[in-house]
Amino acid sequence: MTETPYFIRLEEARALCSKTPPALSVEHVDLDHAHQRTLAVDLKSLVNDPPFDNSSMDGFACKYDSNATYPLTLSVLGTQAASGDNLPLNVGAGQAARIMTGAPMPEGTDAILPIEMCAVSKDGQFVVLNEAPKPHFVRKKGENLLEGSTALSKGSLLTPARVGLCATMGHATVPVYRRLKMAIISTGDELKLPGESLQHGEIYESNSFGLAGLVRWLGHQPVRYQAVADSMDGLRTALNEASAECDVVLTSGGVSMGEFDYVRRLMETEGDIHFWRMKIRPGSPPLFGTWNGTPIFGLPGNPVSSHVVFRMLVADYIRNALQSDGPREWTVRAKLCDRVKSTMDCVTLRRVELVSTDEGMMAYQPKHQGSGNLDSLASASGLTMLQPGEIGEVGEWIDVVVL
Ligand code: AMP
Ligand code: MG
Repeated sequence: MTETPYFIRLEEARALCSKTPPALSVEHVDLDHAHQRTLAVDLKSLVNDPPFDNSSMDGFACKYDSNATYPLTLSVLGTQAASGDNLPLNVGAGQAARIMTGAPMPEGTDAILPIEMCAVSKDGQFVVLNEAPKPHFVRKKGENLLEGSTALSKGSLLTPARVGLCATMGHATVPVYRRLKMAIISTGDELKLPGESLQHGEIYESNSFGLAGLVRWLGHQPVRYQAVADSMDGLRTALNEASAECDVVLTSGGVSMGEFDYVRRLMETEGDIHFWRMKIRPGSPPLFGTWNGTPIFGLPGNPVSSHVVFRMLVADYIRNALQSDGPREWTVRAKLCDRVKSTMDCVTLRRVELVSTDEGMMAYQPKHQGSGNLDSLASASGLTMLQPGEIGEVGEWIDVVVL
């Protein structure tokens, strides 16, 4: 039997997880439900965008004449509105048509002068153009998208702008990956639900709520299970249920070296562990493997650690499985303004406040960095990505992941 990989680098952990992807399937959703979903195909435009030459301004349309001098008086032939039900205008020499933004360019015109640069006679029969009309106020047919061209490729995370673009292209529904059901199981005898009263030694269970938010942020469906006590039987029952109902299982707590770390113990004896522990701080205890064939992440119990491991490992795993281009992790260069405690063998992810200045981004570390201090994460805007051996001195320029 080969040894379980132990205390491996983040990249190695990602590579191992990616070998056991969740099962994917595709469904068609209407655009009202497309936000945050990942496209399962290359999406081609059904139309040209715009579908016809049109005006980008309210003003007057006429034919551009390079010999004309300004001010120039033209007779007004009529009004071209944005809807198509008015009479088609045919604008000749010495004539102009009043035009609204988005209205099709009338026959015989190729330039627009915005209304602010025009003076219309009282009776509306004539218009004086105070300067030359401009061809660049005409939005040309197909200048944004050509019919049949691919504007959104497979794996595009449908942001609000992209959902709008699907509509522009004429799609009423889009094929997307079915949302993954992600089970969230907290473990620990000491955990109580917020709202209940605490006995000495008990704390409020927070990880499942934070993790559920992260699952939604990724565009998937969290299924929060009741927290389980530290026992092999309780945990086994919960894992059986969750692995049957969900595509991926996330547990929190119970993966360290302690006697009561039952997630690790149960996975060692009855599950299949692909690796245990990785070189990031906070967040070194996690394990990954399968339970009854379902991928399972054993996340650490400390609230900051479970969040950080989700961002570094689980989010990457899901994006990778769907080949999704979002939600993106933005890394910026920032100058450390406080000393940050680093480690020799791990990537160090301290929570920092980012401030944009003329000199660039500045990173401050205002809160104490215990991995149980959720306040330090809730108030932070970034996580340092100090590589092993990087010192973390004031004045160093480092990579920071934007939260
Ligand atoms: P464990 O990994 O189970 O030893 O947990 C490490 C620390 O995280 C302990 O202080 C736990 O009380 C705390 N913890 C574990 N699970 C949760 C949770 N779901 N919510 C809040 N804190 C937790
Ligand atoms: Mg525990």
